[in-house]
Amino acid sequence: MQVKILGSAAGGGFPQWNCACPNCRSVRAGTLLGKARTQAQLAISADAEHWFLLGASPDLRAQIESTPELHPHPRENSTRHSPICGTILLNADIDHILGLLLMRELQPLHIYSSSSVRHIVEDNSMFAMLQRVEGQLSWSSISPNEWFPLHSSSHNQSCPRCRVLSLGNHFPAYVPSKRLSRSDPKEASLGLLIEAPSGKKLAFLPAVPQITDELLSELEGADVLLFDGTFWSDDELIRIQGSGQTAQQMGHVSVSSPGGSLAQLAHLKYPRKIYIHINNTNPMLNEDSPEHRQVRDAGWEIAEDGWHFEL
Ligand SMILES: [Zn+2]
Repeated sequence: MQVKILGSAAGGGFPQWNCACPNCRSVRAGTLLGKARTQAQLAISADAEHWFLLGASPDLRAQIESTPELHPHPRENSTRHSPICGTILLNADIDHILGLLLMRELQPLHIYSSSSVRHIVEDNSMFAMLQRVEGQLSWSSISPNEWFPLHSSSHNQSCPRCRVLSLGNHFPAYVPSKRLSRSDPKEASLGLLIEAPSGKKLAFLPAVPQITDELLSELEGADVLLFDGTFWSDDELIRIQGSGQTAQQMGHVSVSSPGGSLAQLAHLKYPRKIYIHINNTNPMLNEDSPEHRQVRDAGWEIAEDGWHFEL
């Protein structure tokens, strides 16, 4: 199974359009030892021909253009085509679903999501642009802990199988209370486990509010772990912006806090450990920083746009 990291930043990207924090200023000035990043996006394929997205980033158009495997190929009777078969939505955050609107133009798309996230998307009439003709948009419902196969239209080969974990119970702030009351909190924020046809396992968890014993035992069996690297410290935004929420309040366990991911996942020796969904304020983006060194010394990698590996 091919895995491509098309985007590795948290919502807003790096730099973020309205941010003048030290990281954003120095990456714009070209003085940062470190790289700009687009908003988190993964693509996977079992046959290098049919691709599935994990999420739908607002930066998807540029990410597709910079990834030749995702470019369309002319067909006998049409110039319209895409190697992208579908996407798995793990939550309804703007930075996770806005890219759906970039995949309109009557192109067929299959979406895997919880029914709560599906209803939130369907409430918004703008997304009806994905369903202008019959057969354009199709849905599969996914529920925490149930395995589901990731089929391409050809169906003629072994495919990855996936299972989602319920990680957080907060829906995005834009969801109206009427919809919230009819949504299942267990479906608000999911992590994804993917088993490749080779038997190797990938865990993709871009938003983890807390690391429980149950989650730890799930991660023991992973070969590659792509984990929430949003914030270095719990009060990072408040310290840098002068206001805002803690990482915890935003549904993210921080990297460096006592109950944070560096400490809690230190004993996981087997998986390749990669931080993803990194906020522009996170000091570990600066490769010259002690925070960057601490993470690398602990055996972690920090995802960059364009990384590619096979499982
Ligand atoms: Zn910034």
